[in-house]
Amino acid sequence: MNIQENLKGVLNDLPTPVRLVAVSKFHPCEAIESAYAVGQRIFGESKVQELQEKYEALPKDIEWHFIGHLQTNKVKYIAPYIAMIHAVDSFKLLTEINKQAAKAGRVIPCLLEIHIAQEDSKYGFSMDECRNMLATKEWKSLKNISIAGVMGMATNTSDNRQVQNEFETLHRFFLETKEQFFQEDAHFKEISMGMSHDYKLAIKAGSTLVRVGSKIFGERIY
Ligand SMILES: *Cc1c(COP(=O)(O)O)cnc(C)c1O
Repeated sequence: MNIQENLKGVLNDLPTPVRLVAVSKFHPCEAIESAYAVGQRIFGESKVQELQEKYEALPKDIEWHFIGHLQTNKVKYIAPYIAMIHAVDSFKLLTEINKQAAKAGRVIPCLLEIHIAQEDSKYGFSMDECRNMLATKEWKSLKNISIAGVMGMATNTSDNRQVQNEFETLHRFFLETKEQFFQEDAHFKEISMGMSHDYKLAIKAGSTLVRVGSKIFGERIY
């Protein structure tokens, strides 16, 4: 397993505007240091406690992205430093992030997680739920968050057409919401989609942020 070679391989697949979130969850600090040594600065984690330990141990110019499901009672721990929260799936969570960001004197970029897969999942807004949430305009009073775009996960299937369709659906939803709610907001620009097994399809469908873990760091031990 050569993390630096794997990382270069993935970076070679990315057109210039697409950024890489190297998903380091369940891998030790040494693995992150290895990718850091060849220039990677954006890392993704999905557990608050694990992220806290890594944040404290590792260089402060790392841009930490929270990619997992975030419980409202844990927002306060990461609010002082988190660079982006990818999977916001309720207005309540958005409100809590805003509150903790205000306490930390920050504005935290957030992505709205949209449920695009056929698989059942407890998480993510349906497209209608998200439209309704945005239509209330209540989010406009939250001054310490910035809605920076959308995030989604495709069905875990070998049917590439289906995966491609789901990613394209998320891209269309992004364009629709951009037009309806964020036309004059330059912050709303990210489409976070694509993991180790499907990031090439996600890029074809317009991804701006891919979240790749095992293809760089190896299989995780759960
Ligand atoms: C774990 C995880 C990833 C990375 O998955 P890989 O298959 O290891 O690339 C991406 N996004 C989310 C939300 C994850 O939880």
